Formats: sequence, C-alpha cells, structure tokens
Amino acid sequence: MCLDSLIQQLTKEGFKVTPQRKLLLEILQKSEGHLSAEDIFEEIRASQPNVSFGTVYRNLGILCGLGVVTQLDFKDGRSRFEISSGHHHHLVCLDCGNAIDVPMCPFSKTISDTAIANNFFIKHHNFEVYGYCGECREKEEETKEEARGKHQEV
Ligand SMILES: [Zn+2]
Ligand SMILES: [Zn+2]
Ligand SMILES: [Zn+2]
Repeated sequence: MCLDSLIQQLTKEGFKVTPQRKLLLEILQKSEGHLSAEDIFEEIRASQPNVSFGTVYRNLGILCGLGVVTQLDFKDGRSRFEISSGHHHHLVCLDCGNAIDVPMCPFSKTISDTAIANNFFIKHHNFEVYGYCGECREKEEETKEEARGKHQEV
C-alpha cells in the first residue's frame, strides 16, 4: 500500500498522524520492513534530534495496536517492525538479523484438524526459517580466505 493512502485512511479513522508518526511510517516503508525500535529511533533522530526513544516506542505501539504496523519476534531479543502488508513469513539471518519475506503460509489442514480435534482455539502462529543471508555468507567466505592467507590476484 502506498504511504499516502495509508495516512489518508488513518486520518479518516480519526488517528492523528503527527509528523513523527508520518516519518516513522516513511522509514518503515522505505526500508521494506523488519527494523528494530532502535534502528527506527536512530533514523528519526537524524532529522528530529530531540525525540526520545520512549516516544518512538510508544508511537510504534500505537501503530501496532491500529494494525498498521506488525511487530515481529525473531527470537533474538529484539522486536522488529514492518508495515502490515498481508500475512507472510520470514527467512531470518542468524548473523545480521535481516529478514526476507516469504510470500506464502505453510499453515496446513493438519494443524487446524489437530486443533479442532483437541478443542484448541488458534489465536495466531509464527513460522520463521533461520539461516545465513547471502551478504553474511559472502563475508564469511572472505574471512575464511583471509585466514587461509589466499589473496585474489588482480
Ligand atoms: Zn545476514
Ligand atoms: Zn516481513
Ligand atoms: Zn502463516
């Protein structure tokens, strides 16, 4: 969704889109998601030096509550945030923590059947795949090469 229509929708619903909230959404949109609150805070501070981490965090919470932003837990102790853009899953890098969107859901009938059979009410689910991203793997290769004392000939 484009940011302008998102902001329009929020305003229509009576939500006050302050310049900081707008900036917050812009940052998330631009980055294609998966930023930690600290990342977002750093970026906002670049143009609004007086902003506090608490305010940024509170605004993130409000936007999550509105369903505009989704909070993600990649089990590394840092929540990530992304603009809500339909249900999807992630490939998460164990090294740098970056995530790649997987545009499908592996949630299966077996799971819902098991839930029904056990009178279990499903509220939500996570499915994240962990590994190493291309960039980190390249870096890792370079480090190995250096350790071996090999130098590329130019
Ligand atoms: Zn990585
Ligand atoms: Zn995502
Ligand atoms: Zn899913």
